[in-house]
Amino acid sequence: MTVPGLVVVGARGRMGRRIVALAPELGLTVAAEVDREAEVSSLDASLASVARAVIDFSAPAQAQATIAFCRAHKVPLVLGTTGLAAADEEALAAAARDIPLVFAANFSLGVHVLLTLVGEAARLLDEGWDVELVEAHHRKKVDAPSGTALALARRVAAARHTSLEAIARHGREGQVGARPRGELGLHAVRGGSVVGEHSVRFLGDGEEVVLEHRALDRDIFVRGALRSASWLLGSPRAPGRYGLGDVLGRD
Ligand code: NAD
Repeated sequence: MTVPGLVVVGARGRMGRRIVALAPELGLTVAAEVDREAEVSSLDASLASVARAVIDFSAPAQAQATIAFCRAHKVPLVLGTTGLAAADEEALAAAARDIPLVFAANFSLGVHVLLTLVGEAARLLDEGWDVELVEAHHRKKVDAPSGTALALARRVAAARHTSLEAIARHGREGQVGARPRGELGLHAVRGGSVVGEHSVRFLGDGEEVVLEHRALDRDIFVRGALRSASWLLGSPRAPGRYGLGDVLGRD
């Protein structure tokens, strides 16, 4: 009989494999490995009896099914998939009324700190400082800009009392004209095996502030996700949408 534990969705992927491998380090048991490439290819109701928590790092197309499973069976969720559609975000918000869930576009402590620093810099440096964000990832990444880049850009927008949609400029080409004040440039580099790099440049007149994070090892995200699962299981959590800051006990 299967011992109850984590159900890992996307278990054959780059992230999923490491989640399964490192779970015992945090004292967590993996009850089931779900992947369209694996023996258990979907998250069906038969897994409800063994799922203490679900960790999903798969693909946006799977997000709604995972959220529905967790909601229906009252199972806490750690969701790391990026590139979610607006409808997925809505499903996540609705599920957070019934179950505790941790969602982060980036589960590393360093990026968590970078988000805070970028928000603070955007608050301290007025719109006279242009902001440009460059991110780089491996050639197999399917979404752009990265979820982390979007989260960083939203921090800048919030600090400047506007929305990302109002200020984002995705790449530039041709006769683009002079740079409008307040624009936020986003640029995605893809290639090789880059785990993840995010650089936010605040460009002033005669000076620059650059805030940057480089992920050197995918396990930083894996440990953050597993720590989130431990946190959800460690004591009863009220339904809600939590972030890495809640898990780590910091803002
Ligand atoms: P990957 O392509 O290596 O792995 C994805 C796995 O999910 C594959 O094995 C695939 O077969 C499986 N899968 C896809 N759709 C499925 C479905 N409907 N049902 C079951 N299995 C399915 O990708 P990866 O690099 O491991 O990344 C996975 C996701 O996690 C991506 O969205 C990526 O951007 C995100 N990610 C998030 C963080 C973070 O910190 N939040 C860090 C790294 C990656």
